[in-house]
Amino acid sequence: MEKIKVRAHAKINLYLNVVGKREDGYHNLETVFHSIGLHDDVIISKQDTQEIIVHCGHPAVPSDSSNLAYRAAERLSDAVGGIGGVSIEIKKRIPVAAGLAGGSANAAAVFHGLNELFSLGFTQEKLMRFGAQLGADVPFCLHGGAAFATGIGDQLTRLPELSDLPLLLLNPGIEVSTAAVFKKLNFSLTKRENAGIIIRTHIENGDVLGVSEGLYNLLEVPVFAQYPEIAALKTELSTQAGCSGALMSGSGATLFALMHNCQSARRSESHFKNRVRFCTTTVTSPVGVHIEN
Ligand code: ATP
Repeated sequence: MEKIKVRAHAKINLYLNVVGKREDGYHNLETVFHSIGLHDDVIISKQDTQEIIVHCGHPAVPSDSSNLAYRAAERLSDAVGGIGGVSIEIKKRIPVAAGLAGGSANAAAVFHGLNELFSLGFTQEKLMRFGAQLGADVPFCLHGGAAFATGIGDQLTRLPELSDLPLLLLNPGIEVSTAAVFKKLNFSLTKRENAGIIIRTHIENGDVLGVSEGLYNLLEVPVFAQYPEIAALKTELSTQAGCSGALMSGSGATLFALMHNCQSARRSESHFKNRVRFCTTTVTSPVGVHIEN
């Protein structure tokens, strides 16, 4: 095999609470991740040279060693004492710097794809440990489906996925700095302790209504304070016909809505389409990375 194509799925956070600040400057979180159908394509080819080459047509995505896909290839290559040259082409569909873990998903796809392409034989657990060295969301992107996460978001407990749940995603085109959001956090606002357990139980029971009532993201507080237009967009999204709940994903600025069905999602999509940078209907996904034949 000379080439492999891997789907790199975005994630949303159905719940995100910050439970403390760590000495290393990171924050301890409690979050519920879910993979979604929206994905980038990552095409990895063997090369005769020794180089790692990354190409992505998106202007905000670097092609040098700061690209998370590059760093994933470098990490795996180092782990086995060199894999030779590879070219990585990223077809970007996931909005960049949008709280959907696009870069982490690309890194996960490279870990998974290279492991297959070069028959490296690493277990998923081992790949997830490599992934955690690159970014907090990479282990989940390799894990996929649904998970409850603690630590910096890298300690994962599998949850049963919510299958084919219709979603509408809206990105207003505002790039929110994750570091600035965490800096402005007010810990006295953190959600009561058992809220995470409650939404987790709803997911375990496949209770979509319960999940929509338990949607929560503490990071909305500092983001909405700085960008009231995102808060207003969420209110408008929440009141669309067929919407059972809406939330901001990660540190934003993407908003998502749980919809009763794809028809109502598409109706709302046409309502927002010309006013936001990105708007799409998708569904929850059982996987984070997937090799295409
Ligand atoms: P998260 O939800 O994990 O916080 P995000 O969705 O907010 O991530 P990304 O799309 O991963 O953010 O992009 C964050 C930054 O990372 C971008 O500004 C971009 O310059 C850089 N970056 C590095 N590699 C990639 C990549 N492969 N795809 C997208 N962005 C990348």
